[in-house]
Amino acid sequence: MTLPLMDLVAQDRAIRAEIDQAIQGVLDSGRYILGPNVAALEQEVAAYLGTRQAVGVASGTDALMLSLRALGIGPGDEVILPAYTFFATLEAVMMVGASPVLVDVRPDTYNLDVEAAARRLTPRSKAIIPVHLYGHPADMTPLLQLAEAHGLKVIEDNAQAFGAQVDGRKTGGLSHVGCLSFFPSKPLGGYGDGGMLVTDDQDLAAQVRMLRTHGWHKKYHPRTIGYNSRLDEIQAAILRVKLAHVDAWTERRRRVAQYYAKRLAGLEVGLPHQAPNARHVYHLFVVRLKQRDRVQQALTDAQIACAVYYPLPLHLLEACQPLGHQPGDFPVAEGASRETLALPLFPDMSQAQVDQVALAVERGLSAPASSR
Ligand SMILES: *Cc1c(COP(=O)(O)O)cnc(C)c1O
Repeated sequence: MTLPLMDLVAQDRAIRAEIDQAIQGVLDSGRYILGPNVAALEQEVAAYLGTRQAVGVASGTDALMLSLRALGIGPGDEVILPAYTFFATLEAVMMVGASPVLVDVRPDTYNLDVEAAARRLTPRSKAIIPVHLYGHPADMTPLLQLAEAHGLKVIEDNAQAFGAQVDGRKTGGLSHVGCLSFFPSKPLGGYGDGGMLVTDDQDLAAQVRMLRTHGWHKKYHPRTIGYNSRLDEIQAAILRVKLAHVDAWTERRRRVAQYYAKRLAGLEVGLPHQAPNARHVYHLFVVRLKQRDRVQQALTDAQIACAVYYPLPLHLLEACQPLGHQPGDFPVAEGASRETLALPLFPDMSQAQVDQVALAVERGLSAPASSR
């Protein structure tokens, strides 16, 4: 049997009785969309992240898009974001008609390089979207200073970092608005699509509540053109069950990551970096390898799953050709795309399983070039 990258089935098995009960409750209630479970989850997530408001929506992508739209960001406005992230971060900017301005990332955490962002500011810059990639917080202190000095809104893409912290404060709640994804594999994942945005800005939250239901300020009375972007009761009920376990799962993922670091020490493997003031949640355990293809082959031969996030940085994607970038524009992002590999990591992963991965990595590193 293949060792998976994440084991969502095992995670479900451990809490199945609670999940069944939660789903049953929704079916018995006859409320399927934006009901009491969504309202309760919004309160629980807001309390968890330390914000006044949370608004459930249909996906993380929509959370980003609706944040931008509710902030009034659109055509003619520039939004700064890292060149190395999941495509949705950029897609959200394009969806509201704003202009994405890409910047390179840091070589250690692969998060937005704040000094590079400062160099791309123009009078049209309106917002900046740090992504807490792989579960490690972006450089929020200098980033918030930069934003403050230039009147930029900050929207955290917290899709991969639920529970991560900087100086003891949770990511997602550090800026004007934080966006969450409940895609199944994310640190807090449902059994389908879902998302949420968190903020202290009551007007912004009210605006998004209106936009997520067709722009209605009252049933059948749209004030503007909105969307159908709502969270389901079944997802919310499941997420409420999982929220109660998320800290324990994160703790176990962190322990697996620690053991990995011990096992891989001394090999030619760049380990995930954790800044001294940061708490990494290891949504993904991403290592850096000069000869990635050999290690990938060795893992595949040993029936161990691994994955490349992301094979191309944003500026080299076909869909981004209109932005007019060239290879070489963001060298750190390009290097990350060439040399990083995600290894299996999940809360129930045993030391024996980590040992198995470490051995395969070692075998891959010592394989002769011709065995490729
Ligand atoms: C998953 C993800 C999103 C989008 O979330 P969906 O719920 O899949 O729409 C956005 N940004 C990042 C960094 C992500 O990992």
